[in-house]
Amino acid sequence: MADTIRLGISSCLLGNLVRYDGGHQHDRYLTDILGPYVEYIAVCPEVECGLGIPREALHLVGDPEAPRLVTTKSAIDHTERMRSWAVEHLQRLAQEDLDGFIFKKGSPSSGMERVKVYTDQSMPRKIGAGIFARTFMERFPSLPVEEDDRLYDPGLRHQASGISRFILRKSSRLSKKISTSAGSKCCPRSSLTRASIFSMGQAAL
Ligand code: SF4
Repeated sequence: MADTIRLGISSCLLGNLVRYDGGHQHDRYLTDILGPYVEYIAVCPEVECGLGIPREALHLVGDPEAPRLVTTKSAIDHTERMRSWAVEHLQRLAQEDLDGFIFKKGSPSSGMERVKVYTDQSMPRKIGAGIFARTFMERFPSLPVEEDDRLYDPGLRHQASGISRFILRKSSRLSKKISTSAGSKCCPRSSLTRASIFSMGQAAL
């Protein structure tokens, strides 16, 4: 629907049973509070690149700027599998008119930042980004992205960082569409004015 805010989202946050252990990470704020205002396009990189459910857990190892995605016990390297799937999948997502993406915090595939990277030193350091999330952000540098828990962090809500940026992105996309249509003497009817979008954002917050 043209008027809907369209967000990509890590599939497990919607309650889908896609985690390595067959579980989920259902976030009721995202489904019950924000859900009525948005249309989600769910993505589970690990399942969709063919790793199956259940599967061995993964973690990031090596150079924090270019870490490898490796299984935690058997040390199988799935980096290239994930990267090549991501590049192909992002081609498809580019057609989806997304207004942003909500990533699962801490995931070696989907985490946006501060993901643990195991280096030669004994303790992992929270300085990486998941392989899919990193590829997504490189492919769509101007799209707003956020992690699940930051959307309802009380400190960050005052900045209204994630949700406002999703809304602004939608607003600007609609404005462009409307002015293009107006230029072609069409009379589009959009119920999603800038004011109404901001009202929605305030309600969701
Ligand atoms: S964090 Fe990402 S890869 Fe892991 S289960 Fe959720 S959607 Fe799948």
